[in-house]
Amino acid sequence: MKINKNILLTSIIWLLLVATSLSWNYYHARQDQNELALHTARSFFQQIVISRQWNARHGGLYAPVTQTTTPNPYLNVPRRDIAVDDGLHLTMINPAFMTRQLSEIAMEKEGIQFHITSLNPIRPDNKASLREKAALQNFEQGINEVGSFITENSTPIFFYMAPLLTEKACLKCHAQQGYKEGDIRGGISVTLPFIMPFRYKSLLWGHLAIGLIGLIGIIAAGIRLTRSYDTIKRQVIFDALTGIPNRRSFSECILREFKRSRRDQAPISIILCDIDNFKDYNDTYGHTSGDICLKKVAQTIEKSLQRPGDFCARYGGEEFIIILTTTPLEGALKVAEKIRQNVVDLALTHKKSLPLQLVSLSLGVATSVDTSLISHEDLIHFADKALYDAKDKGRNRVEAFTAI
Ligand code: GH3
Ligand code: MG
Ligand code: MG
Repeated sequence: MKINKNILLTSIIWLLLVATSLSWNYYHARQDQNELALHTARSFFQQIVISRQWNARHGGLYAPVTQTTTPNPYLNVPRRDIAVDDGLHLTMINPAFMTRQLSEIAMEKEGIQFHITSLNPIRPDNKASLREKAALQNFEQGINEVGSFITENSTPIFFYMAPLLTEKACLKCHAQQGYKEGDIRGGISVTLPFIMPFRYKSLLWGHLAIGLIGLIGIIAAGIRLTRSYDTIKRQVIFDALTGIPNRRSFSECILREFKRSRRDQAPISIILCDIDNFKDYNDTYGHTSGDICLKKVAQTIEKSLQRPGDFCARYGGEEFIIILTTTPLEGALKVAEKIRQNVVDLALTHKKSLPLQLVSLSLGVATSVDTSLISHEDLIHFADKALYDAKDKGRNRVEAFTAI
């Protein structure tokens, strides 16, 4: 199976296109995923901030004391804990306490974690982690938010953090820490669990399938094209019946060899062969047998040529032409004689070809020792004259054109 350069090049271009499409789609899928994670985290943050504002604007809210909602030891305000008429004990839930409780619910339900923190926390548990500290320092430099995919304990997660600004309502508790309205008082970090979406895998498999199908298509089409091209090329170069080069190939070859002969100042010979009484052969044995005979004679002529530079072609109906490069007349006559003998040795019966009653050839040989003096048409013409001479002298013989 021959895979040529064009198929290889087309395959490489195709694979590059598929790879480019895969990287482009992968890049955009990642971008989309980043955007989605950022929007999700941002809206969680906003929800918390709004709830906190609502709480702060009421100056904190009361909730019944339970096992999970115990009085906040870090909340130092009057009437933090109260009892109502029927003996129900209530404790004040300030924004920080509320955030912590909401965070616990979010963690339980969605695996989403948010953490209120600052560089200067009242409650030790609100101490910033290293990542949160870095984000808080960024906020001091004027950055509004941070958000990116990270790996924690070999698990990919999305980390988001934005600053908490001090509002008037916050000063009730936080003025003692020296905060003024508008100051960055800390931040809330949101951590989203991240499960690699199936889309990446489907992108990869989809592109692999498209790439492979395309590649098979290119190779299959390429092989078919190459075969068709080879067939057409064969038809252009070779004679369909005998399988040896056709007259067109001969015309190209003689021009080339004539030039070479002129350049090298080397002799060049032409042998023209014609089957004797072939019309009678067809009339006696039929056209199909005539075709088979032509094929056998052509193969015999081809086999009789031994040097790599020797060239033979079907010149006409039952005529063949041979080019012998760098061959003087004596050599060409020997080759012609060998061809004649080999055809006779085929022993193809031809009753009407007397006296042998076998298929035979007449051959005319012409040699040019100086191709600057004559053209290739002249040389063919001389070989033709010699051929007629051979026919005149009784057929099944070799004659040379000697007047050059
Ligand atoms: P001569 O010895 O003088 O060459 O006699 P000839 O009968 O061979 O004469 P001529 O060269 O004029 O005849 C050529 C014949 O070759 C005519 C045609 O019937 C036959 N021929 C030409 N091409 C083909 C072919 O492709 N197939 C077959 N079967 N016969 C062909
Ligand atoms: Mg003829
Ligand atoms: Mg003939």
